[in-house]
Amino acid sequence: MAPRLRFLTGCFGWQPTELSRCNEVATRAWMWTIHLILVIPTAMAAFTARSNYLLVKRYPQLSQHPYNPKMGLSFLMTYIGCVILFPWVFLATLLLKKWYGSWTLLYGIANLALAITITMGVSMQAQFLPASLNGCKGGKAMNWQVVDGYPSMFTLAADLDRNNVDKAEAICKNMVAGWTVATAVVFFQFLLAYISVFFDEREFSLLNPIRPFVWLLFIIIAPFLLVRDGVLPRIRLWLSYTRKGVAELRSTKDLQVPPQTQFIPQYQSFEAPKSKLTDVLAIEHVLLNMVDYLHFEDVVNLSLTCRAVREVVYPPRDLDYRVPKLTRHCCSIAEESKCLYCNNKICGSCQRNPLWPGLSGRRHVTGCKPYCESCYYKSFARHPRGYKKTCKCYITDRSNEFQDVCRSCMDKHVDTLQAERHKRYHQEVRDIAYKENSKCGSCKMVLKDGMRWWKCGKCGGECRDEIHPAFVKRKKEKDFEKGDVGNRETDEDGSWWRRWRNVLVPRRQD
Ligand SMILES: [Zn+2]
Ligand SMILES: [Zn+2]
Ligand SMILES: [Zn+2]
Ligand SMILES: [Zn+2]
Ligand SMILES: [Zn+2]
Repeated sequence: MAPRLRFLTGCFGWQPTELSRCNEVATRAWMWTIHLILVIPTAMAAFTARSNYLLVKRYPQLSQHPYNPKMGLSFLMTYIGCVILFPWVFLATLLLKKWYGSWTLLYGIANLALAITITMGVSMQAQFLPASLNGCKGGKAMNWQVVDGYPSMFTLAADLDRNNVDKAEAICKNMVAGWTVATAVVFFQFLLAYISVFFDEREFSLLNPIRPFVWLLFIIIAPFLLVRDGVLPRIRLWLSYTRKGVAELRSTKDLQVPPQTQFIPQYQSFEAPKSKLTDVLAIEHVLLNMVDYLHFEDVVNLSLTCRAVREVVYPPRDLDYRVPKLTRHCCSIAEESKCLYCNNKICGSCQRNPLWPGLSGRRHVTGCKPYCESCYYKSFARHPRGYKKTCKCYITDRSNEFQDVCRSCMDKHVDTLQAERHKRYHQEVRDIAYKENSKCGSCKMVLKDGMRWWKCGKCGGECRDEIHPAFVKRKKEKDFEKGDVGNRETDEDGSWWRRWRNVLVPRRQD
């Protein structure tokens, strides 16, 4: 029974990433295949390395100055590696029949050690051997790495061993061929070591065969991921802060929207004249019956006929109930439509549909949603999958469209009407931004004071229109119990620069 080696699948609560499951039986089959491939080259490499080693041992001059001193060692290491590998291949083939699974790791360690030994020998040989057999042909062996006053190493070997200088090419070819075969052995031996070390079929194992590729991929891709997911989003967030800060400094704080003052009749000096008409209109259900056949605008005009009529159609003490009743009855009852500019009720027959330029403020009021910093970071700065580019809806804001307008507004000048309407939109946008307990459009958390980002409801991109306040700081509610009084003028919001300005430039006390 093979040990399970649990520590390979993580320890102290840490677990490697999950990969696909592999098959230990397949690992064994691969090992057998490579064993089969290795047999002949290993024998050849061992044989050649041995004869070369003996040659160097017989003639120590070959590894003395000016020749490579590691010559003997290089052949010896190749020889030892191959001569152990050769029987090991057969032994491992037999052992694998019974011992595999987690035992494969032991074969892996042996294979790796052998691979490293042979590699060291082969790499040392590369220092004093030509790279291919072509390097030996045509007298090149005689001129290989020649130092002044000394013959080439191959020439010396041929002279010493065979008493024939012309055999230098044969010795060179022999050594290079042995080196080539040993290199092939190294290649397959490393493959074998990889297969047997990364043997584990379990998905979470450190030694899963796919793990090295995942690491390699990670090493290559990790820097890109870090920049893409960590650095760039933060830069975008900082840029956004800067842009909003600049916009905040440039924006004009005081928006001039004249407050709607309600008419307060001066009853002390006024007595509503009694007339038969007012007696009739004063009966509410009669009035409402009449209104059934009027447009809202006509009701307004009716109330304008004289003061007495106005008092009965719009009684000041009953306005809260009267106006909704009138609205419900006038125009075609079923239709619910409002004038875009004055908000009065209109119906199919009293409404007008001029082709006028669109109103840019409208979509900011109806569509744009506030976002908190972390949601802005997640949804925009990080450029997540399916992320929408910055809103460009302003391009089509002013394109002509058919608008529902009442008859009185139709008579006014379009530019004046639109300028007034835009001011109201502007105020509405600010009211939305400064509203108590307003929530983030994404995470639904109550927004704190600070920077606000906006998501366009039409295209889903970030709305950067300057109509939205960049920075929202709610006015502190005055607590009269604590002695706050209402006449502290501009210092109410207590911003740091105002406080410092007052310290540096004290106000004159007259
Ligand atoms: Zn109408
Ligand atoms: Zn209107
Ligand atoms: Zn907007
Ligand atoms: Zn948009
Ligand atoms: Zn949020």
